[in-house]
Amino acid sequence: MSSFQKSNSLTDFDAVVVGAGFSGLYMLYRLRETGFTARVFEAGDNVGGTWYWNRYPGARCDVESIYYNYTFSEELLKEWSWSAKYAEQPEILSYINYVADKFDLRRDVQFNTRVQSAQYNEKKNRWTVQLNSGEKVSAQYFITAVGCLSASNVPKFKGLENFKGEWHHTGHWPHEGVDFQGKRVGIIGTGSSGIQAIPVIAKEAKHLTVFQRTPQYSSPARNTPNDPEHLKNIRKNYSDIRAKMRHSITGIPEEPRNISVFDDSPEERQRVFEEAWQKGGLLNLTYSYNDLSITPEANAIVAEFIRSKIRETVIKPEVAEKLLPRFYYGTKRTIIDTDYFETYNRDNVSLVDVKEAPIQEITATGVKTEDAEYELDMIVFATGFDAMTGPLFKIDIRGKDGVSLKEKWAGGSHTRTYLGLGTAGFPNMFMLTGPESPSVLSNMMVSIEQHVEWVSDCISYMCDQNQAVIEAKEDAENTWSNHCREIADQTLFTKTNSWYMGANIEGKARGFQIYLGGVGTYRTICDEVAEKGYVGFILT
Ligand code: FAD
Repeated sequence: MSSFQKSNSLTDFDAVVVGAGFSGLYMLYRLRETGFTARVFEAGDNVGGTWYWNRYPGARCDVESIYYNYTFSEELLKEWSWSAKYAEQPEILSYINYVADKFDLRRDVQFNTRVQSAQYNEKKNRWTVQLNSGEKVSAQYFITAVGCLSASNVPKFKGLENFKGEWHHTGHWPHEGVDFQGKRVGIIGTGSSGIQAIPVIAKEAKHLTVFQRTPQYSSPARNTPNDPEHLKNIRKNYSDIRAKMRHSITGIPEEPRNISVFDDSPEERQRVFEEAWQKGGLLNLTYSYNDLSITPEANAIVAEFIRSKIRETVIKPEVAEKLLPRFYYGTKRTIIDTDYFETYNRDNVSLVDVKEAPIQEITATGVKTEDAEYELDMIVFATGFDAMTGPLFKIDIRGKDGVSLKEKWAGGSHTRTYLGLGTAGFPNMFMLTGPESPSVLSNMMVSIEQHVEWVSDCISYMCDQNQAVIEAKEDAENTWSNHCREIADQTLFTKTNSWYMGANIEGKARGFQIYLGGVGTYRTICDEVAEKGYVGFILT
């Protein structure tokens, strides 16, 4: 077996990284710092990933800006100030560009280049990576930083090609912006993106028709400008904050109150929920009690509280009724909003329940449901993503014996990974924020930094130990995948059809693909694996 050889040719790299979002850029930085050659390939024409593509009105982060940034550089933490509690997309994109410039990252990123396939060559222990430009490159390590939410999903509506107006997907928004003035706009989808976009579009459009399949729980974000004094304090205490983030459940330095909803009287619960509602933000309601995402009866209480708020906010009772969610609270992506339910009180907004009367087709002039036709000048698809595995499956990734990742994880057989970082049969391939890691149920910046640091430490270890190949063992992978499922099955997450389960994509195998044990526990497990010489992996 050949030992690790540092590459110096123009087309042979120590590592190829796919994607120039937060993950790919930090991976590049760390690889460079540790002395490896790396090339990043990015389909877009600039850095940013999610924040490059999702330029729809109202797009912003639901994790407080002071926690949603890189923490690896003290200098960077001191230099950057977030203007608001929840940063909007343009500001996050400016931040990523600032980071790319500060660390001179662009010179190793090839933009406008899509990775089409990656094949492992067992004789050479190298990956051959095919680009859409026709070029091929090779690398010892193949690292996917493709994001969990980068494969946008436009459901196959009959007749879309006939539509005479404009249409856009929120995850692929035109850079020059979209003019809604004087237009009859239809928006399909009321997930997180839809709920962010609807209030903003409603203010500009002549009329907005919202096509809703599943009513959602959403609570107020209560966004505010950041007070400079507050930022100063945060900076002073950032090492403590970072430690808390890293050892928390979700990557946000907060924990649920250690009390069951049934330990409080109905009046006290009401007071607690009301306080959380008034405070706003992502976790205040969820963290009010420790059993809301575990016991159906506990969940029903918080769910009813939110429904009462919707009834209180939406003036027309028949509209409010259509907006009432009925699934377990928190088992779809938790949503926070600015004036979402209030928007339904506007005269220029109407709500169409497409569960009751499904969309039959898109016509030249609008949307036709089972019981009506809606004339539209523009359609906005806020229909989300083929999450987690979607971006990976868009690349034809083939490991040992030419087996493709898609085949390995196909059909009824569930996605199987070891720690969400690697998968058996695919040596020297690492997935940043891969399936079965905390990923989308965490503050992703914390998860990204942890994965990138683990992977770069692993590659350095391989080099130091003169090892050429690392591959997840099948039994370690089975144990990990089963563990992920066991934890998920103890919660209510698996009881709801959500994109976490793959339920939003026709024909996609259902399975919960996120490790729910918490980012702190996950970090400890990954660290122990490394300390024990990468136990669960075969190194040769
Ligand atoms: P991405 O940012 O998705 O970047 C992946 C990049 O890979 C993309 O630029 C893509 O073009 C590129 N790529 C993919 N496949 C290929 C290929 N085959 N060839 C070349 N390039 C390829 N996370 C939070 O923690 N908090 C939030 O509040 C939050 N809000 C979000 C809101 C929206 C609307 C969305 C879509 C996501 C949100 N996220 C949030 C998740 C967000 O994706 C992550 O926080 C983070 O930005 C992911 O960074 P990444 O680099 O891993 O992936």
